[in-house]
Amino acid sequence: MNSYSLRKRILVTGGAGFLGSHLCERLLDQGHDVLCVDNYFTGTKANIAHLLPNPHFELMRHDVTFPLYVEVDEIYNLACPASPVHYQFDPVQTTKTSVHGAINMLGLAKRVKAKILQASTSEVYGDPKIHPQTEDYWGHVNPIGMRSCYDEGKRCAETLFFDYYRQHQLRIKVARIFNTYGPRMHPNDGRVVSNFIVQALKGDDITIYGDGSQTRSFCYRDDLIEAMIRLMNTGDDFTGPVNIGNPGEFTMLQLAEKVIALTGSASKIVHHPLPSDDPLQRKPDLTLARKHLGGWEPTTQLDDGLRKTIEYFDCLLSGSIAPAGAIV
Ligand code: NAD
Ligand code: UDP
Ligand code: UDP
Repeated sequence: MNSYSLRKRILVTGGAGFLGSHLCERLLDQGHDVLCVDNYFTGTKANIAHLLPNPHFELMRHDVTFPLYVEVDEIYNLACPASPVHYQFDPVQTTKTSVHGAINMLGLAKRVKAKILQASTSEVYGDPKIHPQTEDYWGHVNPIGMRSCYDEGKRCAETLFFDYYRQHQLRIKVARIFNTYGPRMHPNDGRVVSNFIVQALKGDDITIYGDGSQTRSFCYRDDLIEAMIRLMNTGDDFTGPVNIGNPGEFTMLQLAEKVIALTGSASKIVHHPLPSDDPLQRKPDLTLARKHLGGWEPTTQLDDGLRKTIEYFDCLLSGSIAPAGAIV
């Protein structure tokens, strides 16, 4: 960046995670000062180790459920475990992270007059009865189930964002992120793409939960990060919520077959019980994103994204790279 005046001080919470680490990288590439805050619950220092020599990058171990006093221009609030396995490990902490974390980051944004973006989720739609999901759909969510700590925590965070917007005139942006995958996911993350690829590469059984007819729409991480940055840069009158994802819809059986074909694995498919409240179908309606994000469109097809992710896990499992190594 040529102009000093264009350099922003940007806080990324959850910056040592899968998406956060890529976001930090992109923001540094754009010439900004980046403060990465993380408690390393599901993220790792290895994800951002390569950024440490950059004088414009700063790393802070901090839990967002506690207040944070720093001076910044923009906040991307990503701190929160995203995989069902991890967010159900300590569900009370998951809700605290979403709710207390949002209150603290909104309080910070209010004090320093920063613009703030919330990484919300398609899980706010629960097990949706409207397909594909549009932003005006209020969702179908169990308030007392195993996924509720995440779903309701994220819903309450959205509520807080809109109340700070109405009550304190904060500049807010809410992104509803649909399943996103790519290199730098943790091999034990527990989400379906990383599970299937790691199982296929190791020759282990591929574990499909239920009969595999449930659907998801998978977005490659680069498309997602591009949309998040564009959303942050929209005019103050656009708050979202806005869906970000890829509209291609696949059953888990189709995903397993693709992973087996692309890895050339001899792994067999086995079926495990379907977890409770597992949504049956999910696909974003992207009309709003297309209208407001400056011609943004997800460009990476599932096969291409899977190939890149397989290449990453192949190197990781063979020990030729450390997590977040040079190829990503
Ligand atoms: P991730 O688990 O890799 O990253 C989350 C990061 O937040 C980790 O680095 C973790 O250590 C950190 N964190 C958790 N609790 C914290 C706390 N209390 N204080 C500070 N840091 C904390 O997951 P991800 O896929 O990178 O997801 C990032 C964000 O995007 C999350 O908010 C998630 O809900 C949202 N999201 C992701 C997806 C997806 O498919 N990847 C879909 C919808 C929403
Ligand atoms: N907060 C923070 N950093 C700041 C300002 C506030 O972490 O720079 C936290 C603080 O813990 C506070 C919360 O954000 O409780 C909400 O702040 P707000 O100003 O909205 O409310 P109040 O201070 O009245 O609780
Ligand atoms: N899933 C699966 N096998 C796995 C992991 C997940 O069949 O090893 C299924 C899971 O039941 C769900 C879908 O894949 O229907 C997506 O799961 P993930 O945890 O990746 O994300 P989410 O359910 O939050 O969309």
